[in-house]
Amino acid sequence: MANTQRWNGPSDLHLHSSRSDGTQPPAEVLSSAYEYGLRTVALTDHDTTAGWEEATSAARDLGMTLLPGMEFSTRYQGGSTHMLAYLFDPDHDGILAEREKIRADRLSRAERIVRNIRTDYTLDWDDVLAQRTEDASVGRPHIADAMIARGIVKSREEAFAGILHPRMGYIIPLYAPDPRDAVRLIADAGGVSVIAHPAGRNRMLPMPIIEELIGLGLGGVEIGHRENTPEGKRVLHALAERHDLIVTGSSDYHGSGKPNLPGENTTSDANVARIIDRATGIDPVYPT
Ligand code: AMP
Ligand code: FE
Ligand code: FE
Ligand code: ZN
Repeated sequence: MANTQRWNGPSDLHLHSSRSDGTQPPAEVLSSAYEYGLRTVALTDHDTTAGWEEATSAARDLGMTLLPGMEFSTRYQGGSTHMLAYLFDPDHDGILAEREKIRADRLSRAERIVRNIRTDYTLDWDDVLAQRTEDASVGRPHIADAMIARGIVKSREEAFAGILHPRMGYIIPLYAPDPRDAVRLIADAGGVSVIAHPAGRNRMLPMPIIEELIGLGLGGVEIGHRENTPEGKRVLHALAERHDLIVTGSSDYHGSGKPNLPGENTTSDANVARIIDRATGIDPVYPT
């Protein structure tokens, strides 16, 4: 592997563009990543592959390696789990169907959340649409941006700590498939699945479920992520060792939408190689 390696690190495998809730178009995400010293990246917008084309030309222009990816929303017993998917066939029927179901609910859910917020604040659905780029996957960050534009809050951070926090009662849960279905679909589409920030803000999936996911083809776990707790990282390292899982580290960059900076966590060459070797869906975009 190492001697035939066609790509260079450092590698950051979790970045968002304005095709979901990042603040920069895909090409700018890649140039920012390049400026931060990265040479291999994955674009992983929430529930969309719409940024792949633009990211591919940017990677070619910059001489970077791109692993096209997506952060798949999933839900287990009321808790949200994000599943990173790399190098899968983007035309896989099952993935397309599930993804469109999530994206449709993202729209209708956001509209219903705005209706809830409107009972107490001046906020219109058009304010949210004004914050959304083209057909971006809509989420709470766009509602936060609309509230900033209206002067209701000063930052996404403040919005998430207050009005957009579930305890305030305005939020409605998003439809998303069971993580086991997502892992099956990603594997069937030739992709590699990696649980995003497994020990982050959301409750970690129960260990028996994670072990079930491994049996269904889960590729790895994202351990290097600012939201994972130190205790969670220890548990995940032990799990990865026990099951020989791929281990990644990433920034989860969202442009100016989050403080996370490109390359603040990276993935080792050996683990990038494992993802590339395991995938059968599509090839990475290599520098020519
Ligand atoms: P949603 O997709 O509607 O469930 O919103 C979740 C998204 O909001 C995640 O993808 C995060 O990127 C973003 N997010 C969560 N918490 C924060 C925060 N405190 N500040 C900025 N963005 C956040
Ligand atoms: Fe996000
Ligand atoms: Fe996430
Ligand atoms: Zn993310």
